[in-house]
Amino acid sequence: MSKAILQEKDGIPVYGNFINGEWKAGSGGETFENRNPAKASEIIGHFQSGSAEDVEAAISAAEDAKRAWAETSAITRANILYKASEILASRMNQVGRDLTREEGKTLKEGIGETGRSVQILRYFAGEAQQPNGEHYPSANPTTMLYTMQEPLGVVGIITPWNFPIAIPAWKIVPALAFGNTVVFKPASATPLCAVHLVSALEEAGLPAGVLNMVTGSAGTVGDPIVRDDRVVAISFTGSNEVGLDIKQVASARGAKVQLEMGGKNPAIVLADADLDHAVTQVINGAMMSTGQKCTATSRAIVDRSIAAELTERLSKRIGDLKVGDPLADGTIIGPLIDERSAERVAGEIARAQGEGVALVTGGERPASLADGHFVTPALFADVAPQSRLGQEEMFGPLLGVIPVDGVDEAIDVANKIRFGLSASLFTRDLGRALQFVRQIHAGIVHVNSETAGAEPHVPFGGYKGSSSYSREQGKAARDFYTQIKTVYLDPPPEA
Ligand code: NAP
Repeated sequence: MSKAILQEKDGIPVYGNFINGEWKAGSGGETFENRNPAKASEIIGHFQSGSAEDVEAAISAAEDAKRAWAETSAITRANILYKASEILASRMNQVGRDLTREEGKTLKEGIGETGRSVQILRYFAGEAQQPNGEHYPSANPTTMLYTMQEPLGVVGIITPWNFPIAIPAWKIVPALAFGNTVVFKPASATPLCAVHLVSALEEAGLPAGVLNMVTGSAGTVGDPIVRDDRVVAISFTGSNEVGLDIKQVASARGAKVQLEMGGKNPAIVLADADLDHAVTQVINGAMMSTGQKCTATSRAIVDRSIAAELTERLSKRIGDLKVGDPLADGTIIGPLIDERSAERVAGEIARAQGEGVALVTGGERPASLADGHFVTPALFADVAPQSRLGQEEMFGPLLGVIPVDGVDEAIDVANKIRFGLSASLFTRDLGRALQFVRQIHAGIVHVNSETAGAEPHVPFGGYKGSSSYSREQGKAARDFYTQIKTVYLDPPPEA
């Protein structure tokens, strides 16, 4: 980690780009600041404002390293990933704390996300050693007919700020496990977690050029990665607007593209549900990480017969959630990522109120926390399914209750939206649970648990506008990061 720090500026570390095995300053010599969203006056670090020249160097290094890495035994690759998992595990508390300082989720969540990244490294160290193709019978009995899943080459990885170490890990680690080299652009709001992940892989013995990271702006660093013909695949997680633009550009030049984007995830609560359990799970899904998860619950679609009672219970519990410094004991709700996001969420709340939607609790900018980007968690009642609040991703601590009559209407309302990432149902009725699993349009489906739960060893991704019909993590990752070669191996004719 210390090699990543090039110098200090007024006692604050200046971190380098990582290109061809070296931490170095960007060619333009400019840096940008990373600030704590809970205390905007605190600078966490200075990072390189990467240039097109830095991207060129990173892609060239990845291109030069790709053959040797593809030909490195999967067992050697696995050992490096496993060693990186041990290095990261040994730093779990420090990395978790840095995650909280730069992203704003609570310390428990920051350490938890770091642990998840350790688990991802361990999982793909194992997965790299699994069979890498299939053996088939042939019409010709002497032909050996089989497939191999080979690396793609240089992969471009572009990640958002809201899971600043887990998302880079679940893209970079399988890319490396299956023999690709990587050019990585982390989100500008959270480059320190990216440095931690890259450092662990470097210290574990990754050869020079196999993984390269350039920090800096979307236009100067992200765009040239998307446009470069040597980058044969792009894995992107972020907003729909950016994802679709990237797909257009990268697909037009023939690159393989994977997108994971927004969500507007429903939790359906039927009249027979255990209400205490449903309330806890809906609040966890809606408010943890300050609602800034792609899988966050933002629509509680509730049977009309229990809507008033559920709204009251939600309101009481949401009103009690402690908002404040995410490093402090007892804090449940930290800040939004930046002031623009806090203003945007506050603006959406004001707009909905202006349209006559009933704000039951929260939605304030607390004056006592004015140095951070805080909005208190908000609950709206009687939200119309087709309203802006019912349809658009808000990416903040904001939940709307939508009353419906019965399971059929609930599923219909849940499905009438452009997104389809995750969905939950709360019921004791097995028949309704199975109906929901069959009929809901979502890539991740929960019965009696929150929408935001996702384990690292199973496929992850959405239906409809939330994704690009590809899946990340688990065994699905091999399909994105490899291509299939079909081999017909015949003996030479006998002399
Ligand atoms: P974003 O603004 O789309 O940015 C995502 C990444 O793309 C950042 O690294 C950004 O760089 C970069 N970028 C932006 N414009 C680009 C361009 N034209 N070319 C290349 N790179 C570009 O998203 P965000 O605000 O960071 O993240 C929030 C969004 O991510 C939400 O919509 C959320 O639902 C979604 N998300 C989805 C999932 C999922 O798995 N489905 C998971 C987490 C988050 P800068 O940071 O430098 O701007």
